[in-house]
Parts: sequence; structure tokens; C-alpha cells
Amino acid sequence: MSVSITTGKLAALAGRHPLIVGALGSLMALGVMAISLITLLASRDAAVEHAHQTSGNVTDVLVNNIARTIETSNNSLLALISALDKPVVQSMDPQLRHELLFDRTAAQYVTGMGVTDDRGRLIDGCCSSSHKWDFSDRDYFLVHRHSVNVGLYVSSVYQARSRPGAQSIAITRRMNRPDGSFGGVAIVAIDVDYFRQLLSKLDVGPHGITAVVRTDGTLVARNPPISQTRLVDLGRSQAFPRMVNHDSGFYASTSIIDGELRLYTFQRIPGTPLIAVVAPAESDVLSSWRRLSWMVGISASSVSLAFCASVWLLAFALRDHVKAQLLLTELTQTDALTGLKNRRALDEVLENEWGRLQRSEECLSLLFVDADNFKQYNDRHGHAQGDVALRHLAACINRHVRRRGDVAARYGGEEFVVVLPDTDEAGAAQIAEAIRHEVDHGRPTEITGALAHFTVSIGTATGRRSRPLSLDELTNSADLALYEAKRRGRNAVVSADAYITSAQPQS
Ligand code: GH3
Ligand code: MG
Ligand code: MG
Repeated sequence: MSVSITTGKLAALAGRHPLIVGALGSLMALGVMAISLITLLASRDAAVEHAHQTSGNVTDVLVNNIARTIETSNNSLLALISALDKPVVQSMDPQLRHELLFDRTAAQYVTGMGVTDDRGRLIDGCCSSSHKWDFSDRDYFLVHRHSVNVGLYVSSVYQARSRPGAQSIAITRRMNRPDGSFGGVAIVAIDVDYFRQLLSKLDVGPHGITAVVRTDGTLVARNPPISQTRLVDLGRSQAFPRMVNHDSGFYASTSIIDGELRLYTFQRIPGTPLIAVVAPAESDVLSSWRRLSWMVGISASSVSLAFCASVWLLAFALRDHVKAQLLLTELTQTDALTGLKNRRALDEVLENEWGRLQRSEECLSLLFVDADNFKQYNDRHGHAQGDVALRHLAACINRHVRRRGDVAARYGGEEFVVVLPDTDEAGAAQIAEAIRHEVDHGRPTEITGALAHFTVSIGTATGRRSRPLSLDELTNSADLALYEAKRRGRNAVVSADAYITSAQPQS
């Protein structure tokens, strides 16, 4: 029951205010779109966060691996320097000393190990020919010669002299003479391929990169590798200072090498100038999310548009329906000949006004208007002319019934009733007299054309709360007053209370 009432109210609202209902429907559709958008943005953030965590884990693996290698190399250097410092080792046969210090070297990636004198010339070492190489131009040699407290130094990438075409970095320590002066450099050389292989094992998506860079902006290794011609100074990248100034971090940036937007996670390898970088491409990270977005976007838009269109169509259809119903109601309540309310509508109005009268201190007046000798009029001028006269009479009545709530109706035949709420006896008599006078003396209008003269008699009655006791009594009083007006000779107004005649009897 309540559901049908609510539905009915909604239908009525849509009929009266289709724009409001359409706008409400559009707002709901927009709401659905907004919720979809917010959900998609949240899932995008979740995808980026997930990529950040995964990259963090991969970076940890990379850093641990490289840190272990550096530590092992450092230990080897410390052991080498410590052994060389011992007098017993210094006084050893060079061949025996070489075997003791260098022949058990070490990991696969270590491509060279050795010591230089204070002028950079290789004194002893392994893993290359016995050529006396001069390393006095290398950055590590220059750094150690000029500074006492460098400790462990990780060099920049250089072309290995002993292995044409190969690149290495050197892990080095300064060797001091007993008096503290510079005595040379102990070197462990690591093939850059070590880093490349390490990076190639990490999966960061089809457009992602992994890299090891130095804090001076030079690239140690990158996967996928980059050709020498495209090699750039990473220090020029706007984001690079962030890497140098923080131990670890996460940011999104467009690569200055290939223009790809990537999500960079970086971490400094402790105690070295090396930075491990893991950077999946944003396009890879968000590829599933983009597919989902398209699907959700298209579905949500389609559903919202369909919903919107349905609401608007329904609202306008309901408006037309309500309009048609109003028109129908109007037609069923209107007299076809005169355009006034018909008998059925009059009965409704009388019931309502009588009910209202019982709840107020106001009064209610009725006018019963009847065309005089109309049968004769028809006989003399024809029925069609009689119809024109009735339309003229209806127009006259309408002209004098102007107040809000006043109603004029055709009771039937040549009889009309006027309902005048909040109107007392004097007011009713005044309006009745105005109608009678206009019909008697009124000029034919453009609509009526030439019109034969006729008159009306009007009976009025006024009621108040509980006086008379019923609506029937009130209408009977008006009817009796009309009868009295006829009896007095017609073309007259008679009030049921006073039977006052205000017009001359017809001659
Ligand atoms: P009275 O002055 O006593 O009212 O006399 P009367 O002739 O007007 O009254 P009566 O009731 O005898 O006749 C009413 C006439 O009104 C009869 C009918 O021909 C005419 N009439 C009723 N309805 C219509 C109508 O719709 N059109 C026309 N042209 N005449 C109508
Ligand atoms: Mg009559
Ligand atoms: Mg009559």
C-alpha cells in the first residue's frame, strides 16, 4: 500500500517537475560515475604502492649481493696489505710470495688483484699477464696518493688494460710505508659483467630498468644495457640529486635516456659511492589497472547514460501522461457549449465549499440564473440562435465572477449556478444585479454577432455555518428565490432572505 502511494507520489512529482526528476536522475548517474572514478583512483594508488614494495624487495636483494661482494673484496685487500706488512713475507722469495698472496684468488668476478708501488706501477698481482702495467693515471691511484684516510675506495668504470674490450671497477686501499708515507695501492678489480649479470636476473617488466650508478652520475651497469653512443651523464637528471642526498627513496620520473616514465626505487650500497636502482615503467605497473579502468569506465558510463536517458524519458512520458489526465479531467468537468464548469464539477465545488463553510465564520452565496421565456426564444429565433444566446449569457456571468474561488457552472438547459465563497447577501445581490443588467442591456459581441434581446431572472441565497442546516436547504432557498423572481414578472433578482426586487418587471 505505502509502496504504491510512494510510487504514485513519484509519478506525480515527475509529471509536474520533469526537469527536477531528470536532474535528480542525472545527479545519481554522476554519483555512480564519481564513485567508480574514486574507486579506480584508489586501485591505481594500490597498484603503485604494490610496485613500490616489490621494487623495494628487489633493491634489497641487489644491495645485499653487491655489499657482500664489496665486503669480500675489502677483506681480501686487508689480508693482502696485512700480509705484505709482515717482514717474513717481505723477505720471501718473490715466486713463493706471489703464490702465497695471489694464487688462491677468489671469486669468479674478480678479474684482477695486485699491488702498485708509489708511482702506480704494478709490483705484483694475478689474473693477467706479468706485464708491468702503469696505473698512475687511474682515479683510485690519484685519490689514495693524495689522501691518507680514504679507506676503502670504489673506482669509476674503466677499460681494463690487460683485457681489451672489458670494463672493470677497482676496489682499492692505500698502502702506507712504516713512516706513514704513500707506499702504493692494493687493488681488487671486478668485471662490470658481474653487475650486468646480477641485474639481468631481476625481472622488472618489459619496459623497466635496473641499474647500478655512481654518486658522480656515471653509469656502472644497466639492464637492459645501453650503447656507448647513448651513454649520458645521469647527474644531469633532475631527480639524480635526490638519489645522491638520500640513502634510499622512491620517486616517479621520466628517464633522460629513453623518455619512459618510471617509478624509481633506489638504495645506496653502504660504505660505497654505488647506488642500486630498480625502476619498473609506470606503463607496465599500471597496465592491468588501465585495462580495468577502461572496462569499469565504459561499463559505468554506459549504465549511467542509459539510466540518465531512461529517467529523462520516463519523466517526460509521465509529464505528458499527467498533462493528458489533467486535460481529460478538465474535459469531464467542462460544459461543451459554454466552456463553464458542468453539473458534475458544480456538485463537487458545492460539496467542498459547504464543507469549508462548516469550518469557518465566513458565508457562502449561491446565484441561480435562468433565461426568461427561453422556449419562446428558441421557437422565435431558432435553436442555433438560442445556443448563441446561452454562450453570451455564460460570458456575461463569467465577466462578473472574477474572484479567486468563485465558480460559474451550467446547471443544465438554460439554467446556470454561480458559487460565491466569502460573499454575503449584499455582495451576492450586487453581482446578480450586474449580471441581470448586462444581459438586459448588453451589446452583442464579435463572437455572438447580432443577438435578439433576452433577459434572465436570478435567485440568490446566502448561508453561514449551521444556517441553513444543509446544502440542499441552501440550494432550495436559491431555487425558491428564482421562482419568486419569475413570479414577480422575470428580468429580476430576488434574495431568498428578503425577496428584494431590484429590477423593473418585464413589460
Ligand atoms: P421561464 O421564463 O419560466 O424559465 O420559461 P422558459 O421557457 O425559459 O422555461 P422552460 O423550462 O419552459 O424552457 C426551457 C427552454 O430552454 C426549453 C429548451 O428549448 C431551452 N433549452 C434548454 N437547453 C437548451 C440548449 O442547450 N440550447 C437551446 N438553444 N435551448 C435550450
Ligand atoms: Mg427559463
Ligand atoms: Mg428553466
